[in-house]
Amino acid sequence: MLAATRSVQTFAQPCPQDEGFPIFLTDEIPPHYYQLSMEEIWERGLAAKEQLGDSVFILAHHYQRDETFRFGDASGDSLNLSQIAAQQSAAYIIFCGVHFMAESADILTGPEQTVILPNLTAGCSMADMADADNVEDCWEEISEICGEGHFIPVTYINSSASLKAFCGRNGGVVCTSSNTEKILRWAYDQGKNVLFFPDQHLGRNTANQMGVPRENIQLWNRHQPNGGLTPDQVKQAKMLLWNGFCSVHARFNQKQIEAVRARLPEVKVIVHPECSEEVVNASDYSGSTNKIIKIIREAEPNTKWAVGTEINLVNRLHRELYRKEGKHIECLNSNVCPCSTMYRTNPANVLWVLENLVAGRVVNTIKVPEETSQWAKIALDRMLELSA
Ligand code: SF4
Repeated sequence: MLAATRSVQTFAQPCPQDEGFPIFLTDEIPPHYYQLSMEEIWERGLAAKEQLGDSVFILAHHYQRDETFRFGDASGDSLNLSQIAAQQSAAYIIFCGVHFMAESADILTGPEQTVILPNLTAGCSMADMADADNVEDCWEEISEICGEGHFIPVTYINSSASLKAFCGRNGGVVCTSSNTEKILRWAYDQGKNVLFFPDQHLGRNTANQMGVPRENIQLWNRHQPNGGLTPDQVKQAKMLLWNGFCSVHARFNQKQIEAVRARLPEVKVIVHPECSEEVVNASDYSGSTNKIIKIIREAEPNTKWAVGTEINLVNRLHRELYRKEGKHIECLNSNVCPCSTMYRTNPANVLWVLENLVAGRVVNTIKVPEETSQWAKIALDRMLELSA
């Protein structure tokens, strides 16, 4: 796990200008912030951080673009960042990630702390595929078919606070891609079956890995009555999967794996479990973002890797490990876009937030309503205990 550190990561060269990409305006940021050079953003950002001292802590998800990522006091995947947020005492936590992550940080930090999302439009398309009303309807329908207490709800951390609260209220739990197997084991050890949302692929890949028979894995189609399933199929499901997916990881396919193996016969393919079952099965390894980083870092020098995950992380790993150890690391899909919602956090947004704090103004706060927060915390704390 990456340790939280106060040192700001520095780059040898200034970042290049951010040309050719769309800029997402938040409600209030003055447009002139987007005209600043990267050097000016960096220098003014560092000066503001210096003034704010220990009152501010910046978390940066691995999928952030470099120019934003380098502002991070700590970096990590969703699980790391939740754990780091829970341990922080800074008055202001600036979360360079997406909306559901900032919500989790707000739930896990104290009432005297404030969580800030630099761009309020940074959401997650997968999280949006499961809304609380649809999941409540599904829960009612499956309870009518199987009776209450037949299923435990498990939500991937990539979901809204209201879904985490739903899990808290119904004896369920949150999971991340680092701990899904542990969480499922906990549910199965109680003799229960699992309703898993929103990512079907993480659920299916983990169930496969645990040896859950194929006929006991069923897909609940949120657009169809009774999920498109017969009552017998629902009763049979040890794993009932919501039909959500990540639009970034859904773009990897078997053909790309075949192509890279033909071009680089010695290459190892490693993918995130948000990729499809076919892609995971055709790869040499699969695992969470942190596991991907660990395996590649620990590999022999001069090895070659094709990675099925978000491209900012892949490029950053390549730059670091090619220089140090001659490792060649490329994205499995050279045309894959960065996660478009992670990308919305422009470094100008971070500077704007910091300079407002220096001026005594708090902008873009994320505050989960009290009741939702209490229930969601139960599900999040349960996850943190189970993954300790
Ligand atoms: S990479 Fe996928 S799951 Fe992660 S924030 Fe982007 S859309 Fe959501």
